[in-house]
Amino acid sequence: MTEETTEAREDSTAPRTGTPAARDVVVVGGGVAGLSAAVYTARQGLDTLVVDPGGSILRRNARLENFPGFPLGVDARRLLDLLGEQAETAGADRLDARVTRVSLVDGDGGESDEARTGSARFVVATDGDDRIRARHVVAATKNEVGYLADLDGVAIVDRGKAYVDADERGRTGVDGLYAAGRLARKPHQAAVCAGHGAEVAVTLLEEAELPFYHDWVAPEGYFTDRDREVPPGCEEIDAAEREAREATALDATRDRFAEPHPDPQETHPSLEE
Ligand SMILES: Cc1cc2nc3c(=O)[nH]c(=O)nc-3n(C[C@H](O)[C@H](O)[C@H](O)COP(=O)(O)OP(=O)(O)OC[C@H]3O[C@@H](n4cnc5c(N)ncnc54)[C@H](O)[C@@H]3O)c2cc1C
Repeated sequence: MTEETTEAREDSTAPRTGTPAARDVVVVGGGVAGLSAAVYTARQGLDTLVVDPGGSILRRNARLENFPGFPLGVDARRLLDLLGEQAETAGADRLDARVTRVSLVDGDGGESDEARTGSARFVVATDGDDRIRARHVVAATKNEVGYLADLDGVAIVDRGKAYVDADERGRTGVDGLYAAGRLARKPHQAAVCAGHGAEVAVTLLEEAELPFYHDWVAPEGYFTDRDREVPPGCEEIDAAEREAREATALDATRDRFAEPHPDPQETHPSLEE
């Protein structure tokens, strides 16, 4: 394992606590949907913070055997770690906290701030007394909706459990607020919720004031040898760069899967002593 990958591993297991006052994107909920969304927004340079106290329901899974790319299955807690690491590698920060309230910035949302894509619309409050301004909020909290109670325009659907009424792309009744994964009434499957998180993030990117085409990594010349500019969001890499990235990835993958995940199996709280 290289020094670089060791550092990445150590970072991935410890959510960061530093919280700049303004973000382009705050993702509420760091399960599969929220972390997938963060990978996409952070890779496009949006200053992204994922807030989560560590309660993904996927932690209760005994063996995840239907997530694409793992023919023999994968430990669900390992998958969550890897997704968290991927979000951080993309540039997202993580905060170990529970969001207690999302409200609109006073007035017309025109308060000035450092958010790169424009003025903050939201104030996100946490149980750690953080107050973070955000241009965009992605809500990905499965069935927890209490923190949205102050936002006019968010429709909550009660089907025994609470969901946020959102369109297929995750848009809610409030500009800049998206719902992703199970919270948006997607099927109760990890891959579906992860995919929806990615789709919601792409929707956000398309609606933000920044150029975006696709998040693609293409071989050298794929666009440029056809006299096309590399589109915004895309990247062309040459063979040497591809081999270097592959070597780093092989090294890191061997490390991440060298041992069983150390966390104990979780179950339904009602079954615990
Ligand atoms: C026993 C069990 C086994 C399962 N097995 C499988 C399986 O084999 N295959 C499969 O496809 N699916 C399986 N699932 C379903 C899968 O776990 C879910 O569909 C998936 O995790 C939903 O993803 P999500 O991101 O929407 O929600 P979650 O992964 O639950 O993420 C929601 C996150 O929101 C956070 N959160 C909540 N409130 C707040 C707040 N106020 N502030 C900040 N963060 C907050 C939580 O801490 C959590 O991390 C299983 C579920 C269970 C219970």
